[in-house]
Amino acid sequence: MIVVIKSSATPQQTQMVVDKIVAMGYGVNVSQGSERLIIGVLGVRENKDMLAAQLGGFDFVERVVPVSKSYKLVSREGTHADTVVRLSNGVEIGGNAIHVMAGPCTVEGSEMIMETARWVKSCGATLLRGGAYKPSTSPYSFQGMGEEGLEILAQARNATGLPIITEIMDPRDVELVTQYADILQIGARNMQNFTLLKEMAKTRKPVMLKRGLSATVEEWLLAAEYIYAGGNHDVILCERGIRTFETATRNTLDLNAVPLLKTLTHLPVVVDPSHGTGKWELVTPMARAAVAAGADALMIEVHPKPADALKDGFESLNFQNFATLMKQVRAVALAVGRPIASDVTTALGA
Ligand code: PEP
Ligand code: MN
Repeated sequence: MIVVIKSSATPQQTQMVVDKIVAMGYGVNVSQGSERLIIGVLGVRENKDMLAAQLGGFDFVERVVPVSKSYKLVSREGTHADTVVRLSNGVEIGGNAIHVMAGPCTVEGSEMIMETARWVKSCGATLLRGGAYKPSTSPYSFQGMGEEGLEILAQARNATGLPIITEIMDPRDVELVTQYADILQIGARNMQNFTLLKEMAKTRKPVMLKRGLSATVEEWLLAAEYIYAGGNHDVILCERGIRTFETATRNTLDLNAVPLLKTLTHLPVVVDPSHGTGKWELVTPMARAAVAAGADALMIEVHPKPADALKDGFESLNFQNFATLMKQVRAVALAVGRPIASDVTTALGA
């Protein structure tokens, strides 16, 4: 059961609700987001209906909703309206318009980022992606440029107006990365890094949570619940493929998850067909399919010279191929009644 408190309620009134829940033998989780305060009632007792009736009687309680799912606050049962994550420059993820986040796997230098940012923006991307801290399977692979990479991304944002999304891997980097990023990305390998998730709950930056390599949808939603229940309500999910017996592709992009998530949760859903397939030739067809399936945004790896990329060149699109992707995705988006955000957004800067 969750209890949504009216924004006009005083801290004393909120405390009255908490005290009542505890007095009737339940655990309690108070999630104070930037817009709403939601109280989760934890545990199973026979007096739940009575508690619900009593709490519903307070005039500072907006509503009391029974939730059967283990993930309470991110469940559709608790909140029917879609969550729309709003960035300061007017970008809204989870609304009707479809956003495209594009850029290289990793920040390799200033020139390539600037060139890529300008190109993807001219094609209709509305966010710039690029990793400064890279989770590498091999300790001998490139680990990212660190703070210098964040600086370069910020310069590209200044030059183009594109907000930036970049991965954070370590709770010790939260202060630094939040200074630069518009959206914090939690990578697949860290989906169940609970220490990191709890840190994400404390920031006021939106977080995009990628699906773990072999995570079920329920495990993924519970990971999202850590961030939401801890007080950060700007959570975005990203399907990026899962491990299956199939080795012909890098991962198996689970597009079932997109319409399934739309029934289970109110959070926005992004699809990353670059990591989802591992092959650039498959990226555009699967991007089209993702939009047809209901994705709110796409994350696409783009590199000026994929053959020379330090990471993930084999799944990166060159500039021409990205332009083609945008053209085709736009047509599919319109067919399902959704515009590409850059066609309707005037809020973006230069
Ligand atoms: C990435 O986006 O570059 C990345 C490392 O993705 P994932 O965590 O999905 O592997
Ligand atoms: Mn990558």
